[in-house]
Amino acid sequence: MTTADAAQAPPSPGWQTVGHAAARRYLQRSHEAGRIAHAYLITGPDQVGKRTLAMDLARLVNCTPAPDMFDDDPSQPCGRCVACDRITRGVHADVIVIGPHTPLRGVSTGTRESTPEQDAARTLISIAHVREMQHDIALNPFEGGRRVVIFDGVDRMSADGAGWNALLKTLEEPPGYVVIVLLAPTVGALPQTVVSRCQVIELNAVPTEEIEKGLIERAGVAPETATQLARLAAGRPGRAFAALDDETTLDRYRQAVLRVLVTSAGDIEERFRYAREMAGEFGRNRESVSRELELWISVWRDILLLKHEVTDAVANSAWIGELTDIAAAVSVDDARRAIEALDLAVDGLRRNGMARLVLEVLMLELPPIPAGIVEQIELGEAGESHADGWDGPSL
Ligand SMILES: [Zn+2]
Repeated sequence: MTTADAAQAPPSPGWQTVGHAAARRYLQRSHEAGRIAHAYLITGPDQVGKRTLAMDLARLVNCTPAPDMFDDDPSQPCGRCVACDRITRGVHADVIVIGPHTPLRGVSTGTRESTPEQDAARTLISIAHVREMQHDIALNPFEGGRRVVIFDGVDRMSADGAGWNALLKTLEEPPGYVVIVLLAPTVGALPQTVVSRCQVIELNAVPTEEIEKGLIERAGVAPETATQLARLAAGRPGRAFAALDDETTLDRYRQAVLRVLVTSAGDIEERFRYAREMAGEFGRNRESVSRELELWISVWRDILLLKHEVTDAVANSAWIGELTDIAAAVSVDDARRAIEALDLAVDGLRRNGMARLVLEVLMLELPPIPAGIVEQIELGEAGESHADGWDGPSL
């Protein structure tokens, strides 16, 4: 745990974004100079803080503390005035969040529950979402500030192009009081015509110490747990904070590490069985497979770090004993080869390669680890089996 240096300190306690100091400063300065843009595109990996930053921007431009309300700290967003509070609770009339799962008002089914099939079909942002937004922003802000429309997952716009065209029209001539914020994993996920209308803010992985600090200061997490969660979050504060709401997180994580070690120590039949299970899971839930592969990568990175006797950056610190034993039994080249093979598999799955083939090739490439290490862990597990069915990694 490092002490916060001045450059990393949040500009105001009202900001909820963890890390991303440069992005926060940029928005704050734009606001102070009266130069908030009409459209922003915030990019970055899942759970890195895109949506939180967008909500901070909404608070920033709508914050209305009474003149002498917070003499001690006049910076904005204050996080405490009526407007900030309403935005935080998701009930501010001028702040709208639209995502692929946002129900369309025009096709409300009233009291009828939607079917699972209908829910499954709702994975795209459609032109209907954009039209509803256009209708909403044609009206002056209800609460006197600025209307902020956040498109969360705008990369999942329906493929016919109609939605993009409609959105582009709004971006070309937005009403003066509107700020549109698009959230997407990468700039490349959007048409260039849309990107060129936006101020782009790119969010990268947040340093572990900042996540740790955020957990302690904002959620009152005990320092030891904060350290563990922050390391597991791998640069994505959202993961660490989500884990706080789920008591089973650390247990599922433990099971997933065990699965990785048992598979690594297993013979080829065991490895191929694992590949089959993962390929099946890939058809149901890609995200959980990509997290499992991230876990594999973090385990092998740890082994490589331990080969170089760098212990304080080890992500899976609860397993440092076992990982040290493994590091002693494999070569630096083994660890490098494992990470390369894992990166290739991640890439193969991202390019929609045949999941089972990609995973079987991976299983052939990964170096073995001594079975003895895993047998010792399994003895300690008192019969808990990794083959109880898929539960996915936790973080
Ligand atoms: Zn405020």
